[in-house]
Amino acid sequence: MVRRVEEVSTPTHNLTYVRDNDMPNFQLSEEQLEIKRAVREFCEKEFKPELALELDRKEEYPIELYRKAAQLGFTTIHFPQEYGGQGYGTLEMCLVVEEMCRADPSLGVAISAGVFGSDLILEYGTQEQKEKYLPKLCKGEYISAAAFTEPNHGSDITKLDTVATKYGNEWWINGTKTFITNAPIADFIIVLAQTDTRVRPTYRGQTLFVIDKGTPGLEVTKLSNKMGIRCSVTGEVKLDNVKVTDWHIVGQLNRGFYHTIEFLDASRVAVAAQAVGMAQGAWEIAFKYAKQRVTFGVPIIQHQLIGCGLAEIATKIEAARLLTYKAAWLVDQYREQAKKTGEKKMDPTIPMLTSMAKLYASRIAVESTDFAIQVLGGYGYMADYRVEKYHRDAKITEIYEGTSEIQKLTILQYLLRLY
Ligand SMILES: Cc1cc2nc3c(=O)[nH]c(=O)nc-3n(C[C@H](O)[C@H](O)[C@H](O)COP(=O)(O)OP(=O)(O)OC[C@H]3O[C@@H](n4cnc5c(N)ncnc54)[C@H](O)[C@@H]3O)c2cc1C
Repeated sequence: MVRRVEEVSTPTHNLTYVRDNDMPNFQLSEEQLEIKRAVREFCEKEFKPELALELDRKEEYPIELYRKAAQLGFTTIHFPQEYGGQGYGTLEMCLVVEEMCRADPSLGVAISAGVFGSDLILEYGTQEQKEKYLPKLCKGEYISAAAFTEPNHGSDITKLDTVATKYGNEWWINGTKTFITNAPIADFIIVLAQTDTRVRPTYRGQTLFVIDKGTPGLEVTKLSNKMGIRCSVTGEVKLDNVKVTDWHIVGQLNRGFYHTIEFLDASRVAVAAQAVGMAQGAWEIAFKYAKQRVTFGVPIIQHQLIGCGLAEIATKIEAARLLTYKAAWLVDQYREQAKKTGEKKMDPTIPMLTSMAKLYASRIAVESTDFAIQVLGGYGYMADYRVEKYHRDAKITEIYEGTSEIQKLTILQYLLRLY
């Protein structure tokens, strides 16, 4: 079949869809389906429900599984091959994340986010930084973290209390970061700090630094008793006169805020993929149960309130998935284009779409996991039936990498620009 590329204009976008036989092509390729199958096989073998429940109870990171997944190429599937990655794109990364979170949300998040923040090095880092950190991440020898949030600045990171001051050749960093994924186990942490305290607006004076584990003055404590994703470890990072040099600057001096926003614009589509996987996993448990559980003489799926509820959730999951894949695909188109032209300016429709995907998929994850508990009734409320954990795990997707309120504000900001 002849494939051709056509320009399709819509009121909001100028996108290029690959069309097959005059129809937009919504099929995953054979290679992409193979990636999904390989991850599913891995999860069926390794993500044992008993293990997931045990690690959830103990709030313990699945380090062995992380290493195995990394060695199979799953955690850095979108990294270039020259650093040990698989050379695929954001869409393939989303397929991995979705499959893992479908099998178990907490293990899925913990493992797939083991390299969280390292895309900042990939996008903006120096050659030396890339060579030092990326190959070890690809082999599963390193875990990374990225620290933007502070006790007084979560959604609004335009002004920071963490300050880096230059004395001679050294930067002295002081401040506190909180809710940092992987911080207690990370080999390095990328920290956003205020480097110019006088400039206005304040976000024009922020810089990213990469700080190695064990650097004097860097103190990390684990935050316990989370509601969900309990085997993904979260920590507080204290910086007390942490001394680094210009070598440790990631990207440009005083451009850290912009780098962070561009990073989040793309990376939040992975949270959408987490949410799609969680929604799907809980729905599958509920669907199977509804075909078996009998009340009033029939399987409960034959009670329309249950059966049609499951049909409605399945429809919403499919819509969330399409939005997520489209957003991921757009990120990939942008990156391909940027590689060719050297021009790094994201079309505003891309961050809008990644925000829409995260906003919608996270809502559906919460709804689907909640409905799954309802379908299982009293059993759904018990840990052994797993859906209560899916529900606890799903809630975080509405909070981290920008809350749902912030996603709505982002979407509105772009809509106002477009219309
Ligand atoms: C498990 C976990 C892992 C995390 N991992 C990381 C990480 O790795 N790195 C990192 O830097 N951060 C991380 N975070 C932090 C997370 O990104 C922040 O919690 C989130 O951005 C919200 O910030 P906040 O908690 O300070 O809430 P706040 O900003 O105080 O917001 C509180 C409420 O007010 C709403 N709100 C705030 N501003 C507005 C507004 N303008 N309009 C309308 N509503 C508004 C919010 O949506 C929210 O509902 C993590 C958090 C958790 C819980």
